[in-house]
Amino acid sequence: MKRVYGQWSGNPRGYLEDETLCVEAVRRERDWWNSQCSRKRGYGPDGLYCKQHAKRFEVKDEQDQSQR
Ligand SMILES: [Zn+2]
Repeated sequence: MKRVYGQWSGNPRGYLEDETLCVEAVRRERDWWNSQCSRKRGYGPDGLYCKQHAKRFEVKDEQDQSQR
């Protein structure tokens, strides 16, 4: 099932996920709703994130491993 971005009362359907792009929801400067990150995916869990947004998962993975 696709993710939906930018849903609000004026656009209740929002924008469907582009499956070639990072799944992170980001807020552009001139908008006040969230849009899908416009960078290509390929990093992070299941390769769903761009390199920039995957960074936080790399840190989290290291912590998880040390706790196990
Ligand atoms: Zn991203």
